[in-house]
Amino acid sequence: MNYNRTGKSGLLLPQISLGLWHNFGSADNFQNGEEIVKKAFDQGITHFDLANNYGPVPGSAETNFGKILKNSFQGNLRDEIVVSTKAGYKMWEGPYGEWGSRKYLLSSLDQSLKRMQLDYVDIFYSHRFDPETPLEETMMALDYAVRSGKALYAGISNYNAEQTKEATEILKYLGTPCLIHQAKYSMFVRDAEHDLLSVLNEKGVGCIAFSPLAQGLLTDKYLNGIPENSRAKNPDGYLKIDDISEEKLQKIKSLNKIALQRNQSLAQMALAWLLKDSRITSVLIGASSVNQLKDNVESLKNRSFSADELNAIDAILK
Ligand code: NDP
Repeated sequence: MNYNRTGKSGLLLPQISLGLWHNFGSADNFQNGEEIVKKAFDQGITHFDLANNYGPVPGSAETNFGKILKNSFQGNLRDEIVVSTKAGYKMWEGPYGEWGSRKYLLSSLDQSLKRMQLDYVDIFYSHRFDPETPLEETMMALDYAVRSGKALYAGISNYNAEQTKEATEILKYLGTPCLIHQAKYSMFVRDAEHDLLSVLNEKGVGCIAFSPLAQGLLTDKYLNGIPENSRAKNPDGYLKIDDISEEKLQKIKSLNKIALQRNQSLAQMALAWLLKDSRITSVLIGASSVNQLKDNVESLKNRSFSADELNAIDAILK
């Protein structure tokens, strides 16, 4: 594993991090999830990403992760991993169960710590920008989370470039620098390239790219139909069969040909393609099996692209 510095902070993150959005809830096989987390750590993946609502049921990924930590990460191993969680999307009923108020963020963080049986998380995120709450209030909640020792660093997710600029300036003024931005970024979703990455670079904030495989589309999984054991077929999965259009499939097939010429799987090429940009601190993958995890980690063996390869990829993605 290689480790990158997160923006201008002291924290190093692995180039590949593991997210527990799918496959780790109470509806999933616990042993499989535990094996994936343990194998990830053995491969040098020291960063595990959660959110209050990951499941299903919401909260159960944190509960299961807490059990995995109790079973397999005893003693000082807690100091060898970076755990993040978030609050922003709907978690409980009533007016205090979502968005960006201080009331919601801080009570949600307390709930997350209880579920994971932890004293602190390493990174606490505002999961989305709240247009109705003053940004100062949301950022003050992150600042307080850090000052109270319940989080070591503060992060934001799904904020656009302008919102990011403002948020980082408020956090800097408060004395808790913004560590990292968690942004959706893959070959298929390139919005971050417009302004966000340059803002983050300018402000010294790291970037962790979520859904770097476009939820599995940027793998060889859907080349020959939609397998039963796929996120697209899972009724709880966020990827829908309609997302796999004929046009998209043609692009996947063309990208797969380039990957094979590079002696990589499509998943490996898709991750390497993100990591070639030094502004990307880490790619935040999901995995439904240990084999997928191993396949993805192999991407680190070849992260350079010729100009011809990059042009060919851009032509396909247009
Ligand atoms: P990916 O784009 O990496 O998709 C992961 C899925 O792709 C796997 O579950 C698996 O699906 C399939 N897959 C992975 N590797 C392979 C492989 N080598 N070969 C074939 N198929 C493969 O990421 P996710 O969409 O899961 O997101 C990753 C993390 O990002 C989340 O867990 C979460 O932590 C974070 N995230 C953050 C968000 C935010 O708003 N901040 C929003 C969404 C995610 P299958 O089940 O089909 O096998």
